[in-house]
Amino acid sequence: MSTIRTRFAPSPTGFMHVGGARTALFAWLIARQAGGQFILRIEDTDQARLVSQSVDHIIKTLSVLGIDYDEGPDKNGPYGPYTQSQRLDIYHSWAKKLIDQGRAYTDPYSKEEIDNFKLQAKKDKKLFLYRDIRPDKPIKWQIGLPLRFLSDPKQYTWQDAVMGELSAGSEAIDDFILIKSDGYPTYNFGHIIDDYLMRCTHVIRSQEFIASTPKFLNLYEALNIEKPILATLPPILNNDGKKKLSKRDGAKDILEYINQGYLPETIINFLASLGWNDGTVKEIFSIDELISSFSLKRVQKAGAIFDENRLKWMNGYYIRQLDQQTLYQKMLPFWPEEAKNYDEQYKQKILNILQDRLKFGQELKDLSIFFFEDQPINLDLINNNKLLSKLGSDQLVNLLQNSYNELSKTEFNVDQLVINLNQLLDQTNQKPSILFSLIRIAITQVQSSPGLADTMEILGQQKTLRRIQETISALENKL
Ligand code: GLU
Repeated sequence: MSTIRTRFAPSPTGFMHVGGARTALFAWLIARQAGGQFILRIEDTDQARLVSQSVDHIIKTLSVLGIDYDEGPDKNGPYGPYTQSQRLDIYHSWAKKLIDQGRAYTDPYSKEEIDNFKLQAKKDKKLFLYRDIRPDKPIKWQIGLPLRFLSDPKQYTWQDAVMGELSAGSEAIDDFILIKSDGYPTYNFGHIIDDYLMRCTHVIRSQEFIASTPKFLNLYEALNIEKPILATLPPILNNDGKKKLSKRDGAKDILEYINQGYLPETIINFLASLGWNDGTVKEIFSIDELISSFSLKRVQKAGAIFDENRLKWMNGYYIRQLDQQTLYQKMLPFWPEEAKNYDEQYKQKILNILQDRLKFGQELKDLSIFFFEDQPINLDLINNNKLLSKLGSDQLVNLLQNSYNELSKTEFNVDQLVINLNQLLDQTNQKPSILFSLIRIAITQVQSSPGLADTMEILGQQKTLRRIQETISALENKL
């Protein structure tokens, strides 16, 4: 059996979004599972659409995600170069073979002439096809002139490893451009030559190429090339399952998620779940588990819904699995500015109590800011609290004054604080949802925080009491 070789063949036209990353992942999983090779090929033949830095961006994204390739633009192998713009001679020599076989011809028409043909076809209520206007007299091809494939239209039925049996009539086949007038090949031509020369066994790609597949099949035949296994991945849909995922719905740059503090292992797990499952309800997969259990057979045909809340949930799960030191390292970029004067031990303590509620790195700032800096007193937090808003300012002051007195007598460690807080409940005859919420707002200026005793231990007695006192004063000013 031949070695499995899969490839990811992005066009460097921008950043790497969820769809592209999923394609790369699925192709990588197939290769790694089979002990085969995974190739990165840069398809930069549409010079007008190139975006500078895009190749670096793609390479960086793959590297952050741990999707390593065996051959690629910066990792030469036996079938390189792996950037299409460096392979023009190869495409030209294959184009010449097709010309010699009588299966390619120089396109003789100007844009105006083509527009006229199209207009005429429209008038005649006919489908416009280039194969209907093939020139009688061939023009010798040279670089600078577009070269078209001379197709052999027929009906095709083919097997797609995900979509199953597909078919299309001969009208799907036309004389498409092989080499553009700028001398670069079209995607339609370039990828077929490269997949063949690079010994790719699988072509795993998105939906948009299904309609062109009959053309590709026609070209494989003309070139006498055996086609690779074709696998079309289901589209990724937005949350309501109605539209294809757009930027607004979350089709953003994968590196943006990383910059927001999503962990690479989450992103891999999440991408794998976009259209694939192992046949059980299992949702969490390590990379090794994915490598062993992934199969194209279990990729669904129907669109996969991209749910950012699920991504958050999953990232929270992965954050909870991190050991203290790893969590500390991963969260280093996300502390608020004000944290820089505090030592590692202090921050470790904060992370310890935040770990359960943290969903992604960028949340750390808001969740932790009050540990580093006094926040402006915001009495609206009390006014907007369903239970606290029912109490008068004098009652609130009383409760805080009691708390102040009790807490000034105690030692600030969690065990002791829990005892004191419970005593306070008895003394004031209040529910935690009232008393603890009030103390929490006074010392953090947020509605919800980790456990009150934990929070107070980290803040320490002095800050805790001072903040309670300041809130008392603010309430008294209102009286
Ligand atoms: N260059 C194509 C794209 O970026 C790749 C399609 C393929 O994988 O063959 O969409």
